[in-house]
Amino acid sequence: MAARLLEGKFFAAEIKKSVYIEVENFKKNQGITPGLAVIIVGENAASKVYVANKHKACEELGIYSEVIRMAETISKQELLEQIASLNKNTAIHGILLQLPLPEALRNDEAELLKAIHPDKDVDGFHPVNVGKLATGQEHLVPCTPAGCIKILELANIEIAGKHAVIIGRSNIVGKPMANLLLARHATVTICHSRTVDLPSITSQADILIVAIGKAHFVTKDMVKPGAVVIDVGINRLADKKLVGDVNFEEVKEVAGAITPVPGGVGLLTIAMLLSNTVKAAVLQHNTKNS
Ligand code: NAD
Repeated sequence: MAARLLEGKFFAAEIKKSVYIEVENFKKNQGITPGLAVIIVGENAASKVYVANKHKACEELGIYSEVIRMAETISKQELLEQIASLNKNTAIHGILLQLPLPEALRNDEAELLKAIHPDKDVDGFHPVNVGKLATGQEHLVPCTPAGCIKILELANIEIAGKHAVIIGRSNIVGKPMANLLLARHATVTICHSRTVDLPSITSQADILIVAIGKAHFVTKDMVKPGAVVIDVGINRLADKKLVGDVNFEEVKEVAGAITPVPGGVGLLTIAMLLSNTVKAAVLQHNTKNS
């Protein structure tokens, strides 16, 4: 039996529709246009595409967007000064530092992310926001796992009481995903590269979230019949084709529902960034007036 296809475009459109209304209302009632600044350092080709897509999506929804391009040779200090200036800029409500940073700045990543004011941290990577999520006080939440939750919620897939298994324990996907699912009362198991007998665990999952970065890694024997499979992975094959971490063609025959790659989770990530930008603008406005 073929699985229900969870196409990202429908869910992303729904989120964008409500963000658009929020932006319009905020402009009308408060006279404020939500603003996002994206800092891109160096010439990473994939990052340039992502940043251009974010800018275009902001324009479509009436969000002010500024792309700050910095040379690969920039120092940590100069970058910190740029972030400090954006923290003070009242036209900017969200700041995103596009990752990955060039090799020379890689070791400074945590310090640079921490320099972004937590209320403007639309990526949800600041330790304050990580801590809030871990303690059940969701604030600005990382966009990709937040998008996965939106897919489940908008598709009316029950989370409470279900066994959710996540493959991958990164700070940007796996760990926040676990906290978001826990907060929605799932029983959560996190698997990773040192997990022993992975298939015996994944095949117990009612909801299987896969964020590894290995093409076609999850095969049908690893999936419980009827499970909901959310594929976060983005992998480019030698022939340039984009595929996920799940072997879509065979897993769709056993899963109850599945996200495709491309056309799945990726579309939600940008929608959630826009949603976080408006959330940040409203939050900053309320804090200023409280
Ligand atoms: P990462 O490299 O930081 O983490 C990968 C995780 O996979 C690690 O925790 C590791 O333990 C685990 N892993 C690796 N090999 C494994 C194995 N054999 N068995 C079990 N676990 C294994 O990656 P990430 O940043 O979390 O990204 C994961 C994937 O998701 C990548 O393909 C990335 O491109 C994609 N991604 C997509 C979006 C989106 O918008 N759709 C956003 C972020 C990441």
